[in-house]
Amino acid sequence: MKKIIGIFIVTLFIGTAVLPVVSACTGFTAAEDDNILVGNNFNWPFNFNVYMHNFPAEEGKYGRVIFEFNFPLEEGSVYDPDWIVPQQGMNDQGLFYNILFTPELIPVNSTDKPTFDSNDPDYYQYAIWAYCLAKCSTVSEVLEIFDQYNLEVMYYIQAFYADRNGDSVIIEGDDIIYREGDFQVVTNFYQSHPEVGAYPCSRYETAVSMIENMTDLSEEYFRAICIATNQKYIVNSNVYDLNQGIFYVNYYNNYEKTLEFDLNEELAKGERNIHLGSLFEPENNNAPIKPENPTGPTSVKVMKEQSFKVQKTTDPNGDDMMYLFDWGDDSDSGWIMPSDFGRIKATHTWTENGTYEIKVKAIDQYGAESEWSDPLVVSMPKTKSINIFNPFIIRLIQRFPILKYLL
Ligand code: CA
Repeated sequence: MKKIIGIFIVTLFIGTAVLPVVSACTGFTAAEDDNILVGNNFNWPFNFNVYMHNFPAEEGKYGRVIFEFNFPLEEGSVYDPDWIVPQQGMNDQGLFYNILFTPELIPVNSTDKPTFDSNDPDYYQYAIWAYCLAKCSTVSEVLEIFDQYNLEVMYYIQAFYADRNGDSVIIEGDDIIYREGDFQVVTNFYQSHPEVGAYPCSRYETAVSMIENMTDLSEEYFRAICIATNQKYIVNSNVYDLNQGIFYVNYYNNYEKTLEFDLNEELAKGERNIHLGSLFEPENNNAPIKPENPTGPTSVKVMKEQSFKVQKTTDPNGDDMMYLFDWGDDSDSGWIMPSDFGRIKATHTWTENGTYEIKVKAIDQYGAESEWSDPLVVSMPKTKSINIFNPFIIRLIQRFPILKYLL
C-alpha cells in the first residue's frame, strides 16, 4: 500500500549538504488583464523520478494535477521509499501552488493551533499545501485554511500560490508575503527574513528584471525566464496559464521539446500517475544494461542493519540513471541517486529469519528500466531470534536510528 506524506517528516532527514543543490527552485507569476501566467523551475540534480499525477474532480475535491516525487533518494539516506512529496500543481479552478526549500526558520506564532494531519491519501497526510489545491479556488481561501493550522511543518519550506484572478501570495510559515504590483517572484530565501540565508539570490534578481522589462506576457517569454534561472539541474520547468487551464512542461534541461496539456482534457482520462520522463522518451531510447549482481555479506543477522553495493551500470544512450535494491522481503530501497563514486550503496535490516535474494535494477531519465540483476543470496544464521519489536517499531528505527539508543 502506498503511503504518502508531505514534507514535514521527510525534512527531518535532509542533510544540510543536500539543501544547496535542492534549493535552486524559482517561481514567478504575472498578470495582465485576464492573462495570468505562472512559471516554475523544479531543480534537483539527478532526481528525475517525478510523476505527473492527475486527480479528477470528485465530491468535495477539485480536479487537479500534482507533480510529485519521492524523497530524498540520496545514497545511504534513511528514508521510507514510499514517501511522496507533492511539489507543485494546478486545479480546475485555476489555482496554482509550488513549494520551495528554504533555510531553517521555525514558525512560532501558530503553535497553539492543531497540526494538519489527514488520513486521506489524496492529501499526502501532512501536506496542507496539496490539501488546499483540492479544496480551494482562490488565494484568499488558501490563506483561510493555512490560518487554521500549526505551521511548524514549514520550517524548511515556503509555499507559493497564484489564482486566476491574478492574486498571488508567498506563505513562508508565520509570515505572508502579499503581492505588490502585477507580478511576484519567489526563490529560496525568506523575503521577510533574508538574513536567514540563501540571499542575495541571482535567480530572483534575474526573474524580477526580466518581468520588469517584459513587453509580451506569453508562455514563450515565461519559458525564457525559466531558462535564464535554470542552474542546469532542472527536473522540470512548467508554465501554467491559469485562466485557460493549460500547462506547458519542459523536462530535464531540455527546452527543445515542450509538451502542452489541457488540464480538463487530462482529467477526463481518469486518475493517472505518469512518470514525467516517459512522456519525453525518444523513440530510439534503450533501457540501461542489466546491473551486475550486488555485493555484500551473505550471512547476516536479523535486526541488524547491513550494507550492500552494486557497481554502476551503463545506459546505451548515455542517460542518467537511478538504482533500486529489492531486498527479497517485499520491500525495496526506493530509487537511489548515484554518488560520484563507482558504486551504489544501500542498507537494509531484515526483521525475520530467512533466506533472501537481493536484486538491483536501474532506471534511466525517461523511465526505461533495466532487467533485474542476478541475485545475491543472504541468509540468517539459525540462532534464536528475540523479536521483541513489531514491524512498525522496526520501521521507526530504520527512519530514526537514534531510537536504537533510546529504546
Ligand atoms: Ca536510455
